[in-house]
Amino acid sequence: MGVPLLDLAAHHAPLQKEIMAVLEQVVRSQAFILGPEVAKLEERVASYCQAKAAIGVSSGTDALLISLMALGVGPGDEVVTTPYSFFATAGAVVRLGAKPVFVDIEPRSFNIHPDKIERAVTAKTKALIPVHLYGQSADMAPIMDLAGRRKLAVIEDAAQAIGTEYKDGRRAGSIGTVGCLSFFPSKNLGCLGDAGMVVTNDADLAERLRVLRVHGSKPKYYHKLIGGNFRIDTIQAAVLNVKLNYLDGWTKRRQENAQRYETLFRQTGLPERGAVTLPEAVYRASGKSHYHIYNQFVLRVERRDDLIAHLKQKGIGAEIYYPVPFHLQECFRYLGYKEGDFPESERAAKDTIAIPIYPELTAEQQAEVVEGIGSFYKK
Ligand SMILES: *Cc1c(COP(=O)(O)O)cnc(C)c1O
Repeated sequence: MGVPLLDLAAHHAPLQKEIMAVLEQVVRSQAFILGPEVAKLEERVASYCQAKAAIGVSSGTDALLISLMALGVGPGDEVVTTPYSFFATAGAVVRLGAKPVFVDIEPRSFNIHPDKIERAVTAKTKALIPVHLYGQSADMAPIMDLAGRRKLAVIEDAAQAIGTEYKDGRRAGSIGTVGCLSFFPSKNLGCLGDAGMVVTNDADLAERLRVLRVHGSKPKYYHKLIGGNFRIDTIQAAVLNVKLNYLDGWTKRRQENAQRYETLFRQTGLPERGAVTLPEAVYRASGKSHYHIYNQFVLRVERRDDLIAHLKQKGIGAEIYYPVPFHLQECFRYLGYKEGDFPESERAAKDTIAIPIYPELTAEQQAEVVEGIGSFYKK
């Protein structure tokens, strides 16, 4: 039969009517730039993330870029982050003329190793960007402690982690100075194109972000700052206002799918043999429901590349997030890193594989995925 990595058609089918209705409403109103749908979404997402303010922007990438701009990061500054993430995390830093400084990951969570950050901090360091990879929080307590002592801003890259709770129950994006969300279609809350959001508890920073979003203009055509066009599209905001109503249900189903995978994999004996290592909810605390929102379900596996070829043949969707850590990317060669600098990131890039976890995935499909993987290790 085959199982796709993501099935957006199945995801959107039950929402078709509701989505078409709001699209029609926006088109009828002809209010395409900002407006009430955007304000409503900002208020709702701020509350969902337990933050005081939210600023809708054009993408998750632009959420990172505008946050760095608002914090005054520029040439001569250093920003410490993980080498194991989607490109935008480091790309945004470099686009402002600042230097990304990498710190290896902690191998169980795949997130930046909190104990290794301080060594990378210098007098030039302006900010830290922890990434909540795959939908699990980075270890924020030691990160915030260090940031406080060294007077650093913390930008949470929560693109894969809307609603994720750290072990103390606080939600991703509300712990640091700012949090960056993405509504790219493959994220847990995805729109029908590109959109993103910045959340923050700092009212002055929120105001600065709002002004930067419209070319730094306030009042209109008077510019104290140099910003850009970072506006969220109103049509996307309207769609997201519909989809946000369902987010908790989708998260619950992703978590149920993760649990079913655990059961199915344990039955194969593959984890005991070490052929497959299941993902761990490292910061799970009792009574907290959003310990991991499973934007991706990522296994460590033996003979990864052959397994992927095997699954492709069976029509089972699988992907590598991410095959090349930042410090080994061609465009960052000038930074002077070399192979071996971040062994855990390099190992993760070589032995991980993401398998389907989307909310509409059925138990039969999951059984097919696990069978597909099992048949490879029998060979
Ligand atoms: C998706 C993603 C981004 C970028 O978001 P876009 O909306 O695609 O620009 C940034 N960081 C991480 C970790 C992501 O997964």
